[in-house]
Amino acid sequence: MRGVIMAITEMPEEWGFFLNLPDPEDSIVIEKSWKIEILSELAYLGQDYRFLEPLKVDVRGSWTRPDFYVEIWVASNVEVPCSRCLDPAGVAIKEKFSYLYSLSSKNDSSERFDGHGDDSFICIDSWGSYLDITSQIWDSFILSLPGKVLCKEDCNGICPVCGVNLNSGSCNCVREEVDPRFEILKNIEQNDTGK
Ligand SMILES: [Zn+2]
Ligand SMILES: [Zn+2]
Repeated sequence: MRGVIMAITEMPEEWGFFLNLPDPEDSIVIEKSWKIEILSELAYLGQDYRFLEPLKVDVRGSWTRPDFYVEIWVASNVEVPCSRCLDPAGVAIKEKFSYLYSLSSKNDSSERFDGHGDDSFICIDSWGSYLDITSQIWDSFILSLPGKVLCKEDCNGICPVCGVNLNSGSCNCVREEVDPRFEILKNIEQNDTGK
């Protein structure tokens, strides 16, 4: 019996994650780690996730003057219903994201930004003694959630007629498996012979 699934669409209010900002002249690398409890069952964009362990977040930040560069690693283990048979399928989450914090807008510094490949550009108003990276941890978490998942590559799915799991048994339903591409061919053939 599964518990209540909570829909989650925005960042939990209690989230707050900060990095101490070193002196810009300092080439020191700031490292920080968090273990974040995620609702053990959560729904996001129509997919149900069951977190088997907290979300592990590792962060590393350093100045790439005049910007501040932050790498975020997210890792956890979740169970997601198989897209074909709906049986729970285990998935390891392990993703890395990088963000470039800058005082200038993206347009002002497009040259610098272009050199940074896949980094997301975060425009901030001013530097303080610490950097608020809460939204970026949330974004990294959401982006790391697996979409379509199969319990195994050759999952047979469920019978669309009687609903039996075809991985663990078979049924006697007559299933007309229609590939839409063949349907089109069939129609073309019929039209040809009709003339
Ligand atoms: Zn499956
Ligand atoms: Zn069947």
